[in-house]
Amino acid sequence: MSTLVISSSRLIGLDIALIACRPLGLFFKLSLSFGDSFSHRLYLVIFPLFSFLSFVGQRCHLGFILLESKRVLGGILVLVNSVQRPTNLSQSIQEDTIRRFDPQTFTWENTPTLPYKEDSSPFKAITRQLLFSGGHDLPVELRYFEIGPGGYSTLERHEHAHVVVVARGSGRVLIGSQVCNIDLNDLVQIPPMTWHQFQPAADQTLGILCIVSTNRDRPQRPDEADLTALCDETEVATFIKV
Ligand code: MN
Repeated sequence: MSTLVISSSRLIGLDIALIACRPLGLFFKLSLSFGDSFSHRLYLVIFPLFSFLSFVGQRCHLGFILLESKRVLGGILVLVNSVQRPTNLSQSIQEDTIRRFDPQTFTWENTPTLPYKEDSSPFKAITRQLLFSGGHDLPVELRYFEIGPGGYSTLERHEHAHVVVVARGSGRVLIGSQVCNIDLNDLVQIPPMTWHQFQPAADQTLGILCIVSTNRDRPQRPDEADLTALCDETEVATFIKV
């Protein structure tokens, strides 16, 4: 961060322009000499405290110029209005940084409620809200799926994993060959190539927050052989909907 310091000192009959780097919190001293004579020296001192205050306030710098001319020492306090509030601070709070949640409708502002999937996969009574679609150093999507009473997500598996948090209601999930109860705020990890399907508890709405990689493979649907293997477990056989 640099600070342009311009001071005009008529005491020694010179207009002096200094460009000083502001070392944050550090004592800084600049000494200049004029001509062949070393009898005129100018010191610019930016006090650590002032540097700190200006860093916090982002408004001004306070410096002190000591003039030494023919062994006569004088001083000028210099107030430098130099630094605008850094734009990156204001830019970091963008319109989309906070999207408010409406607990009545379980929706986030400026977030459309979309169909669960655009393809012909079997599912029932699910909506999707895409809350985050990758950015910064996070190559992930965060989605909110809501499954209404009697609904179900597609029975599928894929190379990519899911991390899911139950955000509304309760229900059950198939993970591999197990059917597990899930309740509000439970965390569910779906490992790669693991059959999975979510369903709400009876007469309930199940809402889940789901993190998934932005770079992912397409889900696979079970074929007859897969379904036969899945149905070896009676609980799975009665749970799955295809
Ligand atoms: Mn999936």
